Amino acid sequence: MYNCPERECPQLAIIIPCYNEELCVKTTADQLIYVLKDLISKGKIKDTSYLYFIDDGSKDSTWNIIEDMHKSNPIIKGTKFIRNYGNQRALMAGLESVNKLGCDCVVSIDADLQQDERAIEKFIDEYMKGYDIVLGIRNDRNTDSFFKKFTAEAFYKTMKLLGANIPMNHSDYRLVSKRTLDIMDSYQEKLFFLRGFFNEVGLPTTHVSFNVKKRMAGESKFNFSSLMALALNGITSYSVVPLRFVAVLGFFMAFFGFAVGIETVIEKLFWHNSPNGWATNIIVMCAFGGIQLFCLGIIGEYVGQLYREVKARPRYIKDKELI
Ligand code: UDP
Ligand code: MG
Repeated sequence: MYNCPERECPQLAIIIPCYNEELCVKTTADQLIYVLKDLISKGKIKDTSYLYFIDDGSKDSTWNIIEDMHKSNPIIKGTKFIRNYGNQRALMAGLESVNKLGCDCVVSIDADLQQDERAIEKFIDEYMKGYDIVLGIRNDRNTDSFFKKFTAEAFYKTMKLLGANIPMNHSDYRLVSKRTLDIMDSYQEKLFFLRGFFNEVGLPTTHVSFNVKKRMAGESKFNFSSLMALALNGITSYSVVPLRFVAVLGFFMAFFGFAVGIETVIEKLFWHNSPNGWATNIIVMCAFGGIQLFCLGIIGEYVGQLYREVKARPRYIKDKELI
């Protein structure tokens, strides 16, 4: 166990990104308020603890519901983005906003409450032991489709191979301390990959396992292209191994080309063999063409990453805020 000085009873903020979650948001708020009240009555968190919703540019009535809830219960706070920025930026906004509003630790959880909210108590227990990052690890992936299981596994394995060892089966359900938020503030990257950051920052980290439920209502907001974008951002912001791979591959290919060239010259000069094998030619051309395009693509991803970072556009723009 990690040893650190005793911590005081924390002010907890729970951040909840929502995109078109009108069917879930009210029930989710009720259940999370129940969790907060329970923890307050047990003396585990301060009574100033609160919920913070981030409406990621929903097109349905999600924001109206949040506003109504805030009017009747100021424990519910939130912000609305000017447009949809995606779940990672919504999470970032949540973390940055509650750090400004004030809190000792923050838990992020999905609006569909697929993650068992009762694990929050265990998160707090670990925080009190001195951990700065408590990762929620799902017990199984039974609620996921075959496709999602397969792509998630491929992603984690690729990341591991590329040197960023992100814990398997950790979604964005976690607790982080104020200290972590302050360190995060000093990172200037615009395209922030949260799971990579929490993994590499080096603060005392532990895990808590939890059960995954079925989505309460509505549909998953992730599709193939948004998952791919998340995975590519994860890879290009935390690993340069693919670039090295391109360089090494290029070297071997050049060596191979050189050897084949010498062999052809020798054949021509000493054995007077005229070239035959049109097919071989085409195959080699295609193979080289393919490899070059693939490598260009990898480099292009990194150039794209640089391009977006250099422009330094704001990560998100808030339209409204309820505090
Ligand atoms: N979400 C978001 N912006 C988006 C997509 C999703 O804020 O562009 C939120 C969504 O409302 C939910 C969380 O991110 O609270 C996880 O999304 P979802 O449950 O659809 O993902 P899944 O559980 O299927 O991976
Ligand atoms: Mg979900």
